[in-house]
Formats: sequence, C-alpha cells, structure tokens
Amino acid sequence: MKPDIEIYDTTLRDGSQGEGINFSVADKIRIAEKLDAFGVHYIEGGWPGSNPKDIEFFQLAKRKSFRNSKLAAFGSTRRKNLPVNLDDQVLLLLAAQTAVITIYGKTWMLHVKEVLNTTADENLAMIQDTVRFLKDHEKVVVYDAEHAFDGYKDNPEYAMASWQAAEKGGADLVVLCDTNGGTLPRDVTRIVEAAKVKLRCAVGIHTHDDSGLGVANALAAVDAGARHVQGTINGYGERTGNCNLTTVLPNLELKMNLRCLPEGSLKKLRELSDFVAAIANLRHDPRQPWVGSAAFAHKGGTHVNAVQKVIHSYEHVNPETVGNTRRILISDLAGRSNIVMKARELGYAIDNDTPELKTILNRVKDLEHQGYEFEAAEGSMALLIRKALRHENAPFKVDAYHVSLRRDGQNSACEATVKVRVGEKRAHTVADGDGPVNALDTALRSALIKFFPLLEKVQLTDYKVRIIDTGTGTAAKTRVLLQTTDTEEEWSTVGVSENIVEASLQALVDSMEYALLKGA
Ligand SMILES: [Zn+2]
Repeated sequence: MKPDIEIYDTTLRDGSQGEGINFSVADKIRIAEKLDAFGVHYIEGGWPGSNPKDIEFFQLAKRKSFRNSKLAAFGSTRRKNLPVNLDDQVLLLLAAQTAVITIYGKTWMLHVKEVLNTTADENLAMIQDTVRFLKDHEKVVVYDAEHAFDGYKDNPEYAMASWQAAEKGGADLVVLCDTNGGTLPRDVTRIVEAAKVKLRCAVGIHTHDDSGLGVANALAAVDAGARHVQGTINGYGERTGNCNLTTVLPNLELKMNLRCLPEGSLKKLRELSDFVAAIANLRHDPRQPWVGSAAFAHKGGTHVNAVQKVIHSYEHVNPETVGNTRRILISDLAGRSNIVMKARELGYAIDNDTPELKTILNRVKDLEHQGYEFEAAEGSMALLIRKALRHENAPFKVDAYHVSLRRDGQNSACEATVKVRVGEKRAHTVADGDGPVNALDTALRSALIKFFPLLEKVQLTDYKVRIIDTGTGTAAKTRVLLQTTDTEEEWSTVGVSENIVEASLQALVDSMEYALLKGA
C-alpha cells in the first residue's frame, strides 16, 4: 500500500554528526536492519566521499537484503568547473551501488558566492548536471536543497531556479532543507506552498531543531503539501539535532491521520528509540515526547486519582499506541491512588479502603522526607508494600558488620565482616574487596548463599551514588541506588544514610530480599 507520507531516516548520516555519537560500521549495520524491520522507506547510510567507514558500510550493506527500506548514499553536486563524470566524489556515490542517491546543492546566493566562490549560473549547472548524470545511471535521485528557506527569503527567484534545475535534471524529489534550523513554521508553510506551485516533482522536508521547531516545521511542511519527511531517531544530529522521527511519526499517524508505516510498526516506536540510544551509548531521554519513560508517568496525587477513574483524563493518547507504558510514580506527592495503582501494578490486590494503605503511605512519605527516592527503586517499593500487607518478617537479618580499610604505600586493602541471622541460625563471614562496598557485598553474599543457594545467580549491574544535601559537606546524606539482576528480571533498590557504606548495605539487603521474595 502506498503511504501518505514517505519517511526518510538519516540517523546514520546526519544523526552520526551529533555530539557524543560515534557509530562503528557494525553499529550502522545493526541500526539499518532495525530501521528496515520497523519500516521506514529510505535509510541514508552515509557519505562515501567523506570517509572510508561509510564506504565499508555500503560494501557490507549491499550483501544484506532489506525488506521494507531502500538504501540511500549521500553526497554533493559536482565540483565547480569540472565535468561530472570526472568528479571522484560523484563516482564514489555510484560505487556504493544503492538504489537511491541523495545529493545536496546550494540554494542561497550567499553560499554560492562566499562559500563555493562561483557564479549563479555555474551553481545551477552543477545541480542539473549531477542530477542528470545520476538519473542516466538509473538511480532514484533525491535532491536536498541546502539552506532552502534562508535562500528563498534572500532571493526567491534564484532559490526557485536552483530547485527547478534539479527538476530539469530529472530529480524524483526536491527536499527543502532548513539547514540552520532557524525558520518559523509560518515561513515553512509559505515557502513549501510556493515550491508546490512551481515544481511538478514531489516535495520533501528536512529540518533541524535549533529553535526547538524541527518537528513543528516538518508538520507545517506536510500541511503545505510536502509528502516526504526526513529526520533521525531520537532527533540525534548536529548542534541541537534533526527533526525527531520518534516525535514526528506518531503526530503524522495518530494526530493527522496520515499513513507512514506498515501496519503495527508504530507500536514498536519506543523499542526502536531505546535500541538506537543503546547503540549510540547515550542515556535515553526520559522526557522525550511519546517514547520517554516519563511520557506517561503520573505523579501528582490528584492526577493519579483522576487517571484511576478515567484513564484518558490526563493522557492525550493511550501509551500502548507507541509501545510505551503508563507509570505511576511514588513520591512524597503521592496520594492513596498512587499507592493503590502501584501495588496493583506489582500484583497485590488492594483498593482505596485497604486498612494497611495508610501505614504504607505514611511510611513512603516519611522515608522520602529522609531522602529516599522510590521512583527509581521499584524493588524497595515492592518490599515495603509487601511487608505492610502481609505483616511478614524479612527472610534474614544483618546483626552486625565491620569494614576496615588500610593503605600501605601504593597498596590499599578493604576487608568486611558480616553477621547474619536466618531464623535461629547464624552465619559469620569475612571477605576482601576492591573497595568497602565490594567487600561488604561479597561478605553478605557468601553468608547468605549457604542458606539461599538461588542468590548464586543474583548480581549487581549498576551502582549509583548521589549526595542529597550538599550544604553539609562531607557529612551530607548519601543516596545509593542499586540495579540487580537474576538474568530473568532486573530490579532496583535504594538506601540512604550519612554513611555511604551504611546506605549501600541497606540497598544491598533490599536487593537480596527482593530476590528471595519475588517468586514467593
Ligand atoms: Zn541536515
């Protein structure tokens, strides 16, 4: 089925120019395969003329078969005063052996004169010749008109002539680019409309987010008749980034009712967004619209109360439409409803009249006042609710511990001893470690494994420390957040104290308790 809007992903080219992003060739292949499975129409793989890594990417990519997407190689128009068939950079585009080639050229006279140092006519010839040459090699040719909006504002006749040069060369698509990202939606609308009047080929849009308008400008262009949208996953890209496809896609499909993706793909949006962030080795932005972990998180007590009654009262769409989930945050703003919804999410049958509810609520408020944070510690939260509801005791108790540190010349050593009690039985272990927390973890674990062999496969995956009241200097309170896994599930726990070792022990004890109780 023909889509209403074509989606052109440039995460691997424009996106890889973002600060802190460095994709290996293998990373690029993995992302391309994921984008293909997701169902974008075009994947821009890179610029073969700019670096050997991109040449290698296209060599590997041509052995893969893509089901939904066409691969595009990116480059520029020929150099000035040189026949196109002698231009190495253009020949490298053909060597990439992709079905689609995208070239960019100049719209703005300022760039023609000051950057290219050439004449108005030669620039038009460079555009038309290059497009024609690539069409003669039976490529689908996308023409990216750089600085289209700034150029049009400066000199509308010349800007239009440059786009028409691409059309005369046989371009399949002229894409107007807001390269500097400073254009307003109303100007995008006006200029795209003008292009639609004069051009017979399809018009596309490529925007940047320098004014926070990357997505808004793409939507304005679509309203004005553009039928092709370029962008990157998570908005990665130079400076503040490109038009964010993970934002623009649900707006096009769910709000403007324009079909862009194969049936069912929009539900994989959150997963795709997480995947690309993980490969880029960047933290996934929790506040990202639609796909962020906070996008459907409810915290304020009155909001949660309303959501409990009517699910869409504080949600613009159902989170499942983009593969996201609703989260109820527990915090000192928490009302009864947050606790009830959280407890239900964790599998406990509870309602607003459950007598233990008040105990749980008071305990949460008291602990948060001390500096605990349950939003990121669902394991500790689950234990707290469980203990209150079932009136049960902990499976083990740490009676005492001791940690010693010493340094002798260059060598430092840590040793921890732990005394635990399980029912009537006691155990006492000693362990060395790379630091006090590591030593304590090892000692606690070896004491407990004798009683609970299943702890063998439980291991820490992340350890975060934050100082919470910095005003008191080294006596400040410390919050420790631990992430633990048993390979089937991952959970997080929290501890707070003026003493970092004590805070760590609390979080460790919670993480072990959670491991022991979660199946029970
Ligand atoms: Zn760009």
